[in-house]
Amino acid sequence: MQCIGDSSIKTSRVHIGGGEREDNRLEFYDVENLRYPNFKDRCGKCALQNSYKMKKSSVCFLSMAVLLVLLRPLRSMECPEYMRRRYDYIIVGSGSAGTVLAARLSENPDHRVLLVEAGESDRERKETPYIDIPALYPLLVNSSVDWGYYSVPQRFSGYAFNNRQFPLPQGKVSGGTFSINRMIYQRGSRHIYDYWASSGATGWSFREILKYFRRSEDISVPELARSTYHEQCGPLRVSRLPPSPLLSLYLKGANSLGYRTINCNEGIDVGVCRIHTNIKFGERWNTLKGFIRPALGRRNLDMVTDAHVSKVLISNRRAQGIEFIHRGISFSVQTDKEVILTAGTYGSPAILIRSGIGPADQLQRLQVPPISLIPVGESLQDHPTVNIRVLLKAPTIKPHAIADQVKNNQYLFQRTGLLAELRGTEALLTLQSDPTSIIAYPDLQITFTSALGDHDPMIDFVRITPS
Ligand SMILES: Cc1cc2nc3c(=O)[nH]c(=O)nc-3n(C[C@H](O)[C@H](O)[C@H](O)COP(=O)(O)OP(=O)(O)OC[C@H]3O[C@@H](n4cnc5c(N)ncnc54)[C@H](O)[C@@H]3O)c2cc1C
Repeated sequence: MQCIGDSSIKTSRVHIGGGEREDNRLEFYDVENLRYPNFKDRCGKCALQNSYKMKKSSVCFLSMAVLLVLLRPLRSMECPEYMRRRYDYIIVGSGSAGTVLAARLSENPDHRVLLVEAGESDRERKETPYIDIPALYPLLVNSSVDWGYYSVPQRFSGYAFNNRQFPLPQGKVSGGTFSINRMIYQRGSRHIYDYWASSGATGWSFREILKYFRRSEDISVPELARSTYHEQCGPLRVSRLPPSPLLSLYLKGANSLGYRTINCNEGIDVGVCRIHTNIKFGERWNTLKGFIRPALGRRNLDMVTDAHVSKVLISNRRAQGIEFIHRGISFSVQTDKEVILTAGTYGSPAILIRSGIGPADQLQRLQVPPISLIPVGESLQDHPTVNIRVLLKAPTIKPHAIADQVKNNQYLFQRTGLLAELRGTEALLTLQSDPTSIIAYPDLQITFTSALGDHDPMIDFVRITPS
């Protein structure tokens, strides 16, 4: 591992949610801060990864040897000392995309694969119970496993938000956003895939990619097990939650308005469906658990966490490797084949721009030598959520039922009950916002959720106030 020093790290003061603090969070599209976040060196004097320092101290060397012996069998995800200098594939970001790619590419023992993640390991965070327990997922938004991005102030939208800035949650932990998301399993609309294919993306039609969806899937819904849309042997568990008394009312209500009951995962058409979830034995089942954990025993796959990729190293217009910062120290690692950026909607464009690939004005502002002047980070599409509440006269969830479940340690011992569920999220209605539109597929989704009481951490988080 080549240690190239950390003199290039810039600290930056960023504004978050109206307050101001120094940390490693960036404002979305605040190009001034896209250069580098502020990394605090959390290593002690015996920094394991700083080999030239270790030579100076035999005490340090000994303790490193003991640690290496202790940690080697666990294939620690933490220390770059265990990594090779060169890999065939370097994958940046261990979210939904990066984990699957790393697992699939390392199935070939001749491929040396490295997975690099800026966040820490999900097993070593105080948020671990919130990551695992489905009902607690809202607590992860704006926690320390969320990058904490906000939009720039909006001129034409966001009227309900303070300063009209949208929160843009993104997971910063192994597993990426799939470690903080809502765990609803829903494939995209067949119409969009088919549109991509007809626009030149060969092999991306819904019919063609269905085999990959099926190959990934382990469905635990008995009546769907034999369906041509599902499969039972893949790494990604797809399940269905037990129905609440409200589910049949949701479905009946939608049916009475003319929406037929459909399967959410046949390519999405107009209709109402019972949701599928990525929950296994009452716990979040993300691609980290499904794809990466079983693959970490492979000798050709390494994963490093707490490693922020600052840029792709490019020479002769080819990606030669990456530079990343681990605990305040900068490292580089080379590739013999490819660098694959799966750092998410905001992370991947930011890395490209820091590497010299992006719009001329942004590269100039950041004083990054240009390599390729192309549009990067444009045409963002997102799906804002609006909560609309309807209060029922009689509760369908009895408060004492929750107290009983807690008292009996039901979740602890059986992994069942309200904690194992998605806070009552049970059905989805997909529809066309404008039935007269020439678009022949749904563009609006209504999620039916039954909840107890008025408190919703998500709402507290965005602090809705009229502006
Ligand atoms: C609140 C919320 C709820 C959601 N609910 C659902 C849902 O119920 N169902 C659903 O299907 N989808 C849901 N989504 C969307 C879904 O989770 C994401 O679309 C998906 O996880 C994106 O995968 P990805 O691999 O592209 O990126 P991510 O999963 O975000 O992974 C990117 C990874 O790259 C890392 N990274 C970023 N920059 C760097 C860097 N410089 N160096 C190293 N690593 C870096 C990040 O830390 C992260 O781990 C939700 C999203 C949010 C925010």
